[in-house]
Amino acid sequence: MSVVGLPILNGSRFRARFETDLRAAPRISTLQLNIGFVCNLACRHCHVESSPARTAPEENMDEPTARRVVDWALAHPEIETVDFTGGSPEMNPNFRWMVEAIRGSGRGVIDRCNPTIIVHTERSGIDYAWIPGFLAANQVQVVASMPCYLQDNVERQRGRGAYDASVEGLRRLVDAGYGRDPDLRLNLVYNPVGPHLPPPEAALAADYKRELRERFGLEFNELWTITNMPIKRWRHELERDGQLEPYMRTLIGAYNPATIEGLMCRHQVNIDPQGRVYDCDFNQALDMPTPASEGRFLWDYTASELADRVIATDDHCYGCTAGAGSSCGGTLA
Ligand code: SF4
Ligand code: SF4
Repeated sequence: MSVVGLPILNGSRFRARFETDLRAAPRISTLQLNIGFVCNLACRHCHVESSPARTAPEENMDEPTARRVVDWALAHPEIETVDFTGGSPEMNPNFRWMVEAIRGSGRGVIDRCNPTIIVHTERSGIDYAWIPGFLAANQVQVVASMPCYLQDNVERQRGRGAYDASVEGLRRLVDAGYGRDPDLRLNLVYNPVGPHLPPPEAALAADYKRELRERFGLEFNELWTITNMPIKRWRHELERDGQLEPYMRTLIGAYNPATIEGLMCRHQVNIDPQGRVYDCDFNQALDMPTPASEGRFLWDYTASELADRVIATDDHCYGCTAGAGSSCGGTLA
């Protein structure tokens, strides 16, 4: 992906920020697995363009691939955490045994959960009501997307009905102990509705805590703010509205070198449903594999080979380095 052609970018290419290649840290501790693109929602900002229609077998990790990936994780003690993402990872029929196998080895597990999936049961006829109890029983850390505490903002991104479904899904997680039991962490994710950077994380977290507690009695641990990346569905919308160049100006103008050390691509590796290797989920969405990884899969590497690797970057990376920075775990600096 490149935004070459935008006059503002002349002399501002992301790669030119570094005199040498951007490299991963000497040790990789997190394996992020995108186990499928199918999702019950089709959000405006979704960088993987997930939707209920993304059911093709090659877009959702099958059992043989899942077994190779889990075996690889268990064989590499460097991997401390396995981070499940999608789509809605719970919709993959392999999700539960994968989580149990990884938790059984003592490693941490993160589930990036869109909370509306928990109440999707009633609408789809498929049972997802097991999610809160299953995650709690396995002490899985939940990272739940909740773009705002206000109904209008949530439904502008996620569609009509998404607010009530999100609140009900969160309520069921809290009822299972999340946000209250110290072993059951529930972190929420905010991303902006429009073409601007997120507000300061701590102040927004205080607003979320107050509003969700007063309105619904909901508790959670941390709020993470994430910048919308100028790629895929969100990029198309920016282009349609003539906002791509102003948005890129905002990101480039807010470049913050203090974010480089913590960039998520430097501390993790990202895997697609086929087992191919990427530096992050954004690069996966852009079909930008880790350099020199073409034709290779996760199981063709050792963890130490994936450390200190050269990272594939392009101008979308300004989304991670703007302002306080942005990663799967919120701000960076
Ligand atoms: S819930 Fe997440 S994965 Fe699903 S469409 Fe929305 S942003 Fe994409
Ligand atoms: S998009 Fe962000 S995480 Fe991905 S390679 Fe660029 S800087 Fe790293």
